[in-house]
Amino acid sequence: MSLRCIFLLALALSASFLCGCISSDELASSKETDRGVSLVASTVPLGHFSKMVGGDRVQVDVLVPPGTNPHTFEPSPSKLVKVENADIYVKNGAGLEIWMDRIMRANEDMLVVDSSSGVDLIESTDAGDHDHDVNLGDHGVHEDILTADPHIWLSPQNAMIIVDNICDGLIEVDPENADIYRKNRDDYLDELAELDRDLNSTFSEMDRKEFIVLHPSWGYFARDYGLVQVAILEEEKEPGPRYLAEIVEVAREKNLTTIFVDKNFNPKSAEIIAEEIDGRVVPLDPLAEDYAANMRHVGQEIAESLKG
Ligand SMILES: [Zn+2]
Repeated sequence: MSLRCIFLLALALSASFLCGCISSDELASSKETDRGVSLVASTVPLGHFSKMVGGDRVQVDVLVPPGTNPHTFEPSPSKLVKVENADIYVKNGAGLEIWMDRIMRANEDMLVVDSSSGVDLIESTDAGDHDHDVNLGDHGVHEDILTADPHIWLSPQNAMIIVDNICDGLIEVDPENADIYRKNRDDYLDELAELDRDLNSTFSEMDRKEFIVLHPSWGYFARDYGLVQVAILEEEKEPGPRYLAEIVEVAREKNLTTIFVDKNFNPKSAEIIAEEIDGRVVPLDPLAEDYAANMRHVGQEIAESLKG
């Protein structure tokens, strides 16, 4: 070995010694079990379900920030970086993520879990113009049915299916910890089953069934508890005057005095109707973090409106 070679070897050795911190990081990232699982979920409730199942094993990021309308959301570059580094992505499915192509393109290697898999979907009516008859829950008979109702998580029974799907996905990317995920899932499923039983007993005693909402988020909730959601908006579009007049008519006929609104939508048409029927406007949050507590609150508010 020439002197020059020995010098270069010494240089290489000292360089690798100086960079010791980098090589130990590389070592850590190669051990999948130490790093945990990186998960991105589309919405706050899906992120919450993922935390309930994943526990300490899973780092959860939510794509659509709180207070943002998921129907019209645009993923930011910083959110796309989170997606690039994810092991698993939990999407709502049922047509909610019209922006999903961009997410898939950002990371072709991650496992994508469709949370709606196995959920019995309600068809949503969206005729384009909203001067058609008020839908009193006769799902499936309108000829203008185009898509599924995407608000699947707002039914505790659906939430149980969603939680199961998330658990299956976590086991697929991190099979060594399957027992932890199954245990967390079962504990949370018990909580959701209790929530469902309580809501069932609340609404089984109610004679009145109709409730008026601004945005039709509560179709699955209504289906599960024998209620009828009367929606002012159908997804993003403002209603025409004939439709508004019809809702006022339904409200008067059924003696409904509460209009439920969602903070992500312009409350103007809800306020017009509330004024017309001398009623009140009450906010409900379909995207709250603490799912079970929020659903209990929603149940109380809707039950209260049916007692009036
Ligand atoms: Zn919605």
